[in-house]
Amino acid sequence: MNVLRVALDVPVATLFDYRTEAASQSDVGRRVVVPFGNKTAVGVIVEVTGTSTIAPGRLKSAVRILREEPGLRAADLRLLAFAADYYHHALGAVVMAALPAPLRRLKARRAQQDQGRLALTAAGADAFEQLPTRATAQRRLLQAVRRAPLDYATIKASSPQASRLVPQFLARGWLRREPPDKKPVRGAPMSVSGPPLTGEQAHAVAEVLGALGRFQPVLLLGITGSGKTEVYLHAMAAALAAGRQALLLVPEISLTPQLEALVGTRFPGTEVVSLHSGLGEGERLANWDAARAGRARIVLGTRLAVFAPIPELGIIIVDEEHDASFKQADGFRYSARDVAVVRARQNNIPVVLGSATPALESYFNATNGRYRLLTLTSRVGSALPQILCIDTQSEKLTEGLTPALLAALERSVTRGEQSMLFLNRRGYAPVLICAACGWMSGCQRCSAKLVLHLKDRRLHCHHCGHRAPVPASCPTCGSPQLAPLGQGTQRVEAALKERFPAARVLRIDRDSVRRRDAWPEMRRRIHQHEVDMLVGTQLLAKGHDFPHLGLVGVINADGVLYSSDFRASERLFALLMQVAGRAGRGATRGTVLIQTRFPQHPVYQALAQQDYRAFAESLLAERRQAGFPPFVYQALLKAEAPKLETALGFLAEASRIGAKLQPRVTLYDAVPAAMPRRAGRERAQLLVQSDARARLQQFLVAWHDALSRASSTRARWSLDVDPLEF
Ligand code: ADP
Ligand code: ZN
Ligand code: ZN
Repeated sequence: MNVLRVALDVPVATLFDYRTEAASQSDVGRRVVVPFGNKTAVGVIVEVTGTSTIAPGRLKSAVRILREEPGLRAADLRLLAFAADYYHHALGAVVMAALPAPLRRLKARRAQQDQGRLALTAAGADAFEQLPTRATAQRRLLQAVRRAPLDYATIKASSPQASRLVPQFLARGWLRREPPDKKPVRGAPMSVSGPPLTGEQAHAVAEVLGALGRFQPVLLLGITGSGKTEVYLHAMAAALAAGRQALLLVPEISLTPQLEALVGTRFPGTEVVSLHSGLGEGERLANWDAARAGRARIVLGTRLAVFAPIPELGIIIVDEEHDASFKQADGFRYSARDVAVVRARQNNIPVVLGSATPALESYFNATNGRYRLLTLTSRVGSALPQILCIDTQSEKLTEGLTPALLAALERSVTRGEQSMLFLNRRGYAPVLICAACGWMSGCQRCSAKLVLHLKDRRLHCHHCGHRAPVPASCPTCGSPQLAPLGQGTQRVEAALKERFPAARVLRIDRDSVRRRDAWPEMRRRIHQHEVDMLVGTQLLAKGHDFPHLGLVGVINADGVLYSSDFRASERLFALLMQVAGRAGRGATRGTVLIQTRFPQHPVYQALAQQDYRAFAESLLAERRQAGFPPFVYQALLKAEAPKLETALGFLAEASRIGAKLQPRVTLYDAVPAAMPRRAGRERAQLLVQSDARARLQQFLVAWHDALSRASSTRARWSLDVDPLEF
C-alpha cells in the first residue's frame, strides 16, 4: 500500500492522506480524485510515501490518479512549497491556486484533442492482441495508431467512436500523448527587425548574456524611455537561442496585448503565450499547457504567471518591478517579484528586474552587491521632459485646474499636440457633501466615502462595491443643497469638453476600459493621434509609449502625502516619475506640470530634479536612521471581526503568545488598520519586526503554529509577510 499526500483546495492548512494501491514517485505532481467529506474532490499529489499518521483503518482510498495527462514537475512543486512556507499560507491552497480553474474541478477536463499526437503504449499493444475480433471499433482505433503516432483529428476521421474511446484508452494507459513538435527556434531570432542598440543597451544586454546559466539577479535601472524593453527582448532572444524558455512579468493586464504583439513580430516562428486573469478559462488553460509542455518559448504574464510551469526556463524578467500589483493584497499574499528571484535561484538562471524607479528594497540590494546594477541613463532619441510645480495655494481653481495648467492645455491644443491630465480618482466626485450641515456620503460598510458616478447617477463604494442612489436631500438635515466635492476623472473630462469644445477628449480609467476589447482600440486612437486630450488614472502611467504626448498635468497628487505609511513618498515619487515619463517621447520636449499645495516638499523637489538615485539615497538614509525596511524585515498579523474589540483582543492575545516564543522579535502594539472598517468587518493589525529575515521567519513558524492551536477565536486572522500596505 502507498500513501498519497494530497493538496486540496480547502481552507485547512494541512495536506490530506489517502491510501492507494500502486503509486510511484512519478505520480508526484499529478492530479488525483479523492473522497472528501461526503463528496469527491480533485487534488494534487505532493508526496508518495508508505506511512501516514492517520490510523490505517481510517485512511480513505483515493478514487483515481489522473495519469492520462502530465502533472506538475518537482521544480514547480518546490517553488510552490517555498512560497507556502515563506508566506505562511496553506500548501494545498497554494498548489491548487496555481492550477488553471478547469484543472481544479472534478468534471473531467475536455481532452485536448488538438494538442500532441497519440501513441500506442506497450499495454495498448498487448490489449490489441487480446481484444476479441468483435470489438471492431476498438481494434480499428488501436490498429491505426500502431503504425505511427497520430494526431487526434486524423484518428477521429478514421473512427466515429474516437471521442468516446480515446479518453478511455488514455485512462487505461493504452495510449499516451506524445509532446507535439516544438516550433523551430530560429538560429538568430532577433535577426532584422530591432533597432541597433545604444551603447548602454548593448552593455546591459552583454552583462545579462554573461549571466545565462547561473543565478544572477540584475537590477536594470533605466529612466523612462531609455529602451528597457529592447534589453528584455535581446536577453530573451539569447535565452531562446540557448534552447531555453523565457518568462516576462508585467504589472498590468492592459500592457500584455501590445507586448504580445511586439514580441510576436520580433520572434516570428516562436510560440508566445500570455497568462493573466483577463483571459477566458479555456484560453488560460491552453496557454498554461503550452508553457508546461515547453511549446511556448516565451511566456508573458501578470503576477500569477510567476508560478506557471515552464520546464526549460532560462531567464525571468520583471518589468516595472516596483509596481505594487506584484504583491497580492489578500489571501495568499505573495510578491511575484520576490518569488521570481527565488525561482531564478532555484533554477540557476538570471532574473532581470527593470524600472525607472525601483523599490527601495531592490535598489538597496543593487547597491550592496546582492544584485548587479545596470543603468540606462539617457532616453533614446528624445530628451527628458521638464517637470515644474504649480503652487495651488495662490491660485484660483476652475474645476480643480489652475490658470497656468489651463493656459498650457490651450497652447497644446493650438499647436495640435496631445496632452494628458492625470489624477488618481475615478468617478465624478470623490464625495457628496451637504452645504448646510457638512454631511458627507459615506459607506455604511466601510470607513470610506461613497464616490459619485455619472453614468448610472449613483454613489459607489470603491472598496466593497456597495451602490446607493443619490439622495434627493441631506439624510441628516433635509437640506436639498447636496453638492459633489472634489474632482474625479469624469468631472475633469466634462470640464475639458466644456472648456475646449473642439478637442477630442478621451477618459481612461477602470470604468472606461472595463470591456476587454476597449483598451486596444483606445490605444490605437492615441497612437494615431485621433485624441487631443487624455484624462486618466494610474492605468495611464504604466509603461505606455505615447509618441504624440507633449504635456502632462498632474492634479490632486498631494493626498498621498497625508498618509501615515512610511512608503508614501517613495510611492508618490515612483508614480509621478512614471506619469511624467509618458511625456515628450516624440520630437518635441515634454512638459510636466504638477499642481500642489506643497511645492517645497522633498518629493516634489526630487521630481523636479528627476534624479532617482539621489532621492533613493536620501530615503535609504532616513529608513536606516528610523529602522524601517529594507533595514528591517516585517510581517503584519491581520485580524478582522464584526467588532473591533474582538479583533484587537485576538491580537493582544497573539502578542502575549508571541512574547514567550523564541527567537525574539520586536512586537508592536495592536492597532486598527489604516482603513479600519471594510465590507462590514472591523480590521486591526499587529506589526512584528526583526533585523534578520531568517530570525523573523523562524519566529513566524512558531507563532503561526501557536496561533493555529490557540483557543478558538471569533476573529479571522492571517499573516502578511513583507507587507506593503498598512
Ligand atoms: P522604457 O521601457 O525604458 O521606458 P521603451 O522600451 O518603451 O522605454 O523605449 C522607448 C522608445 O524607444 C520605444 O519607442 C522604443 O521603440 C525606442 N527604442 C528603444 N531602443 C531603441 C534603439 N536602440 N534605437 C531606437 N529606438 C529605440
Ligand atoms: Zn445636511
Ligand atoms: Zn464600502
